[in-house]
Amino acid sequence: MNSNKKLLLIVTVMLLVLMVAIVVNVALNFRNYSYKSALDKAKATATYVQDGLTAHMVNGIMDKREFFLNNIKNHKEIQNFWIIRAPNVIKQFGPGFKNEGVRDGIDENVLKSGKLAYTVKENSDKAILRVTIPYKASAYGSPNCLQCHDAKEGDVLGAISVEFDITDTRYVGIMTVGKIILINLVFLIIALFGVNYFFKPIMNLFSELGKMIRYAHMGDYSKRITLNVQGEGKEVVQQINTLFEKLDSTFNDLKNSLSTFVTSSRITCENPLEESRKIINELSNIYKFKKTIELDSTYKDIFTRIYYVLEEQFDLKNYKVYLIDKEKNERELLHKHGSELLCECSSIDKNADMCRAYRTRTEVMSVDFENVCQHCEVKEKETEYICVPFDINSEVAFIVSIYTQNPQEYKQIQSELKHIENYFDAAKPVLESKLLMQKLKESSLKDGLTGLYNRRFLENFIEKFTKQADRAAKTYAVMMIDIDFFKMVNDTYGHDVGDTVIKELARVLKSSIRASDMAIRYGGEEFLVMLYNPEKAKVLEIATTIAEKFKSIEFYAAGTTFKKTLSIGIAYYPEQAESIWQAIKYADTALYEAKNNGRDQVVEFNATMYENGEQY
Ligand code: GH3
Ligand code: MG
Ligand code: MG
Repeated sequence: MNSNKKLLLIVTVMLLVLMVAIVVNVALNFRNYSYKSALDKAKATATYVQDGLTAHMVNGIMDKREFFLNNIKNHKEIQNFWIIRAPNVIKQFGPGFKNEGVRDGIDENVLKSGKLAYTVKENSDKAILRVTIPYKASAYGSPNCLQCHDAKEGDVLGAISVEFDITDTRYVGIMTVGKIILINLVFLIIALFGVNYFFKPIMNLFSELGKMIRYAHMGDYSKRITLNVQGEGKEVVQQINTLFEKLDSTFNDLKNSLSTFVTSSRITCENPLEESRKIINELSNIYKFKKTIELDSTYKDIFTRIYYVLEEQFDLKNYKVYLIDKEKNERELLHKHGSELLCECSSIDKNADMCRAYRTRTEVMSVDFENVCQHCEVKEKETEYICVPFDINSEVAFIVSIYTQNPQEYKQIQSELKHIENYFDAAKPVLESKLLMQKLKESSLKDGLTGLYNRRFLENFIEKFTKQADRAAKTYAVMMIDIDFFKMVNDTYGHDVGDTVIKELARVLKSSIRASDMAIRYGGEEFLVMLYNPEKAKVLEIATTIAEKFKSIEFYAAGTTFKKTLSIGIAYYPEQAESIWQAIKYADTALYEAKNNGRDQVVEFNATMYENGEQY
């Protein structure tokens, strides 16, 4: 129901209530007035009859009273009329005429109580008011009742019952009420017309305004009031329309400006204000994320935070993150979360080109085409995957492979994808700088020629290694390795050939030790190998293997071939030395011993070497 109809209904109800109140009031007043005037007449009649009867009594013509009483009865307003003798009067003067006895219960009650009683008998044709008034004995009247009656003051001597026809009065009352109703109805109709005429435009304006605000609430500020309103309303309409015009253009400008900061897909909704709020929220979250990762120390810490965002904010249940080394064209699995993981190819083949998302540099979605990535096998009908590549710099990229288990989850992730990318875009420069820093750090700790750690690395981390070994009660075997008569290679074949020999030794070392062991280029053609927690019996074996492998290599230079040998010194921490530095020193002492003993041999350190003052 529109506002105008509501207003008309309210006015109608109010006027009807007012009309009913007036009618009820008038009807009740009229009725009371009718009864009161009838009662007054009855009382006057009673007094008249009493006076008449008293006069008859005083004049001794009481037996002639019937004429007098019949005259009263014939009065046109009096329907019926009779007098009643009380028992004490009957006792004193006899029963009187036949019709002067008690006729009904009302007469009896009045005689007993001495109180006036009246009733109304009504039907559709007639309305009769019946009044019964008692006559009480009084010594103060004139004449004094008690002179003739054997009665006390206040005793009921009789009563008079009169029935008045009040049908005419009732008719007048009904007619009056009818007229009032009619006048009220006319007034009601005029009032409704007036209200409708004056308030309809205002109500329509309200209703239009309400509609406009409802649309605005849903984000549509394009609605305008098109009503043709006159007077003050016209100005209001113009001002509201101008206000909404401004709101519409401002919110849309705001939304468009903000959306340039983030790529939005989830955010896209009809309401520009709501959309702006969401964009600002996302910008703020991304800003906080970026500020946080800027203070993280390694790129792995940053990834850990990215995993947190993926799991907590985007609710990813199954995903993997691969790091791609573009130079080596290799893929490494950095992280996996969840159980439903389809793409297992990295465990079979590290070749980065196997990954379609990386190779094509585009998002790969299983819904696009049957078996779109041939290395991802979709077993369950509802399982889908989305793989997204992110380039960090010319050397590193990473791939996020997301797996979904039902269409709703897939749809949800797909709509979130742009927002996930916003986070990665924010992380990209930070990751890039962290990777660069790490590379710089690594390059300062690694030897450029062999790719092995250098002496600076050893100096930086030796304390850490010692503490770790002590905590875990583990040992180190330290080997100091030096190429015999290496200077001759440089002198005979040139520096480049010398470099090749050094590189070959590095390769031999790498291939002879485990991942937990370390090979370090200690200086020139001197190398340090640290075997982590080795079986003692194996140490000599490993050293001999290294020496044998190296000795067997044939180097080609200047049209000829040559071979080189190694001298190796070994010491044990903590068995022989108090620190790893000391173990290095002892290994060097043993190496010196090997050189002195004719080179091409492995010598284990023993205390006598040091005591004999043969130290290096
Ligand atoms: P020894 O059997 O006593 O160890 O004799 P050696 O000739 O191997 O030892 P020496 O210390 O006299 O010579 C080491 C040489 O290694 C000197 C230096 O020019 C050369 N050298 C050091 N670093 C490099 C390098 O990176 N490349 C090349 N080609 N030569 C290097
Ligand atoms: Mg040497
Ligand atoms: Mg040397």
